[in-house]
Amino acid sequence: MRQQIERPEQFDLPGMTEELSDQDRIGSVYTMSGEDVERLRKTKPKKLGIRCNRSECDQDLHCFLPPGGAGVNAPGPCRACGANLVDWDAMSIRELQDAHKKFEVLKVEWIRHFFFHVPITSRIDAYARNKGVKGLADVAEHQLTQGKMLRFNSTWDFNQTKMLDGTIVHWARHAVACCCRKCMAYWHNVPVSSNLTESDIDYFRQLVVLYIKDRIPDLQDEPLARVPTGNSHYAERKAS
Ligand SMILES: [Zn+2]
Ligand SMILES: [Zn+2]
Repeated sequence: MRQQIERPEQFDLPGMTEELSDQDRIGSVYTMSGEDVERLRKTKPKKLGIRCNRSECDQDLHCFLPPGGAGVNAPGPCRACGANLVDWDAMSIRELQDAHKKFEVLKVEWIRHFFFHVPITSRIDAYARNKGVKGLADVAEHQLTQGKMLRFNSTWDFNQTKMLDGTIVHWARHAVACCCRKCMAYWHNVPVSSNLTESDIDYFRQLVVLYIKDRIPDLQDEPLARVPTGNSHYAERKAS
């Protein structure tokens, strides 16, 4: 039997880990261009400093991952500076009319803030328009109903959702904290000990859609008639 022990590299305190001097380490998302996103998308996120436990508290970008790991301890203040900025009870109330208030709270965590602001590149935009809002919602639902999301597994949790190299759906999932079971646990009070329910999946799907509409406001519900994919073929309209 595998014991569910957190892997230490996931829970090192910010500033105490390796590769901080790497030239590719991202300073601020505000200085990133779409070109940077595409140039760096194949670089390991950790090398870029895109990690769940990063904080830049002096810029009001914190990390609320509970010490000891989500699902073990209840969330509280920032693990780096101790600032108490999140009303956790309010976060777990599933009222979609409050979603934008929740987005503002999510943005005080470094990793969420990054994905709320990372520039939309032409690759990301084309994928989104090829699917349309409805197609992207289907993709989100498909991702959330895979076994690695339905059930918590400590071996790969925290690593199962693409970052820069993903699509707008992956970016949405990091931003709204449904990228992995640990983030769902501390941000949305979804216990790692139980399987995701239909209601969980429906809620996250809707948060993903709201994020996407914020990032690409003129995105249509239906796929565009055709968006070039780089060769003579055009993407099929059906979301798959
Ligand atoms: Zn902090
Ligand atoms: Zn996560």
